[in-house]
Amino acid sequence: MNGQPVAIDHRNEHLVLPAAALKVGRNVAEIRLRAGEQSLNRNADYLYTLLVPDRARTVFPVFDQPNLKAPFTLALTVPQGWQAMANAPVRDSVLNGASKSYSFAPSDSISTYLFSFAAGKFTRLTRQLNGRTMSLLHRETDPAKLRLSLDPIFQLHAYALAFMEQYTGLPYPFQKFDFVSIPDFQYGGMEHVGAIDYKASTLFLDEGATQDQILARSNLVSHETAHMWFGDLVTMQWFNDVWMKEVFANFMADKVTQVAVKNSNYDLKFVIDHYPAAYGIDRTAGANPIRQPLANLQDAGSLYGNIIYHKAPIMMRQARAPDGPGIFPAGPAGIPEKVRPRQRHLARPHRHSGRPHPRQPPGLEPGVGKPARPPRLQLRPESQRR
Ligand SMILES: [Zn+2]
Repeated sequence: MNGQPVAIDHRNEHLVLPAAALKVGRNVAEIRLRAGEQSLNRNADYLYTLLVPDRARTVFPVFDQPNLKAPFTLALTVPQGWQAMANAPVRDSVLNGASKSYSFAPSDSISTYLFSFAAGKFTRLTRQLNGRTMSLLHRETDPAKLRLSLDPIFQLHAYALAFMEQYTGLPYPFQKFDFVSIPDFQYGGMEHVGAIDYKASTLFLDEGATQDQILARSNLVSHETAHMWFGDLVTMQWFNDVWMKEVFANFMADKVTQVAVKNSNYDLKFVIDHYPAAYGIDRTAGANPIRQPLANLQDAGSLYGNIIYHKAPIMMRQARAPDGPGIFPAGPAGIPEKVRPRQRHLARPHRHSGRPHPRQPPGLEPGVGKPARPPRLQLRPESQRR
């Protein structure tokens, strides 16, 4: 502590620092440790961290809660042929016999659950789009998937970034923007600041890809890119509000994909993706409010589920439907018509009948101050059916 050796006092997942070793104002704790294996995801040829929501403390001692942010300075020593990527740019790398040491610049100020690095036998590809340099680490070897996927992967990110900058009026808020494609990644993706992780099978598609897979890839890239603003830049105080970053990332991803993927029947996709899954849980005894209390961070993992990922987007769309873009304006003036939210049309009653617009999904009747409910099925005798 502050340059003086102090015996380790480890109790109940806490390091207890002796009061005598502390002073008023800034204190410096230097801790040498061997990281736990639990969150390093070691494979023979690569490893990566995945610390969301409460795993950062399994790798290093830290105040592990989302509203306490700090810059991280990382150095990695890895086998010579390995690539490495982290939240901040590489400052320099030094070869030393069979190993290579990477020093990274200090990261932006980030939450502990967003700390990340990946290292291993990856191929690094770097491209410039819209004046921004982006790098991808991947292990894909299928020539068809590489040929057909690299352009869309980079272009979707560039498009989502441009959309987000325009929509929020805030330039991309971090030092750099890169991504890693990881075989068998636990989730579709994870929004680590400046170093997004993706499941390789979602990013790399071949000519047999279905329209659903193409839409899912666009949605995933847009979702993780939107998190750079919703979640990474603006972060919940505590994980009980994790739904909020997810609902906004989904909300933005829907907007980006509606215009990024041509000829997609996006409204139909919204209904199919969200309604069955949301009703599936909402009508069971296991249903819960979108926002749930969370007493201990170690239970944060239990908050994720169909309520957050499927009911919350419907809630969001309904909240917005009565007023059109009024609740969440479409951002600065000058957004081209084609990138404006399409919900604008959905919210408008049909000109002649006054009934909801025919393209409006079920459950989205516009109306201020009254609950919007799905339409009731009207059963008619067989003879009257047309
Ligand atoms: Zn997300």
